[in-house]
Amino acid sequence: MSALTREDLETWDQNDPLAQMRAHFRIPANIIYLDGNSLGAMPRNTPERVTKAVEEEWGEDLIRSWNKHGWIDLPQRCGAKIAGLIGADAGEVVVADSTSVNLFKLLAAALRMRSERKVILSDKGNFPTDLYVAQGLIDLLDKGHELRLVEPDEVVEALDDSVALVMLTQTDYRSGRLHNMSALTEQAHQAGALMLWDLAHSAGAFPVDLRGADADFAVGCGYKYLNGGPGAPAFLFVAERLQDQVRPPLSGWMGHEAPFQFDRDYRPAHGISRNLCGTPAVLSMTALDAGLDIMHQAGMNAIREKSVRMTELFIELVETHCAGFGFELYGPRDPEMRGSQVSFRHEQGYPIMAALIDRGVIGDFRAPDILRFGFTPLYLRFGDIWDAVQVLRDIMTDKSWDQPKFHKRLAVT
Ligand SMILES: *Cc1c(COP(=O)(O)O)cnc(C)c1O
Repeated sequence: MSALTREDLETWDQNDPLAQMRAHFRIPANIIYLDGNSLGAMPRNTPERVTKAVEEEWGEDLIRSWNKHGWIDLPQRCGAKIAGLIGADAGEVVVADSTSVNLFKLLAAALRMRSERKVILSDKGNFPTDLYVAQGLIDLLDKGHELRLVEPDEVVEALDDSVALVMLTQTDYRSGRLHNMSALTEQAHQAGALMLWDLAHSAGAFPVDLRGADADFAVGCGYKYLNGGPGAPAFLFVAERLQDQVRPPLSGWMGHEAPFQFDRDYRPAHGISRNLCGTPAVLSMTALDAGLDIMHQAGMNAIREKSVRMTELFIELVETHCAGFGFELYGPRDPEMRGSQVSFRHEQGYPIMAALIDRGVIGDFRAPDILRFGFTPLYLRFGDIWDAVQVLRDIMTDKSWDQPKFHKRLAVT
């Protein structure tokens, strides 16, 4: 048994500098939410912000709101707020579309900047949509490009002068393992390649330093650690030094130099805005904006510090209180190498997770056998982690996970 007691963790919570942040979120009673890495919890003032945008801005001010309420530059304003969380300058990030679509735009732009090279290099563990988008783009271009996939720790060896772009997700979605952003970016550049980072499970989870790493491109999600709501718009980053070299493949009017001149010919806007395509999703972006305002109150360093304590605590408690039940840590033991999530493998992972969710402990399952738990320091307490592990121990002890209803696979896991 771990020497820790629940009382110890209550003391940790009392001394937690982020403790008061939980009040900014709506967390349903009797729920321990360990899935903020997939869909962040709802900030309490999001309904009010969205209602205002609907009732006052849309309802009353109608089309005047594009100017009066600044709808037209929401993508840049939200982008600037995200920039502060990921080590970018305000003019280097814009909010638009989905992560998948933003990947398409930046991959296409990158391949054009290195047109003599034909390889996109990524790792086999990358998130499927990233690989699918690369495959689709290669097919569309029909110029003999290739997606080269290697093991995550073999990226550097796979670099050569055929690589146009290295595309990696910093935080592995299954194991939480971190790639070394600055080292890999430097190696990619030494090989003459461009570097794109997917920050889906990084932005808002821990401090990211895109400028410090000299990254070229990045994309990331609004609905995970940024608490922007289901299907929230995503963001993209282009280093300032490259912005005017980008030739947008989705050359819509919102990325035009002067959208309201209604010129016949496309001329890209200067700076990051050329990466926009169509009209921004104002209501969704309003919800994202509410989430971003909370992140800024907390500060990324404090979030990281608490996140590391939480993932360390969870591993310790599972390995002591649930010893002998067949759970195997899947991912790094060194917290420096880990994002804000912890995964365990278990051959009965699916029904065990279903039973946990039935008891109000919400994590998720990733095929083939991974139980994944996300840790969001803004609204989780150390005591919650204790309680979650006790529920896990209960359902393993009384085998209540092994009921037919928990074996039935749902469409979304
Ligand atoms: C969640 C996630 C996505 C999601 O992409 P969408 O276009 O929002 O569906 C993309 N990449 C990674 C690495 C992710 O974890």
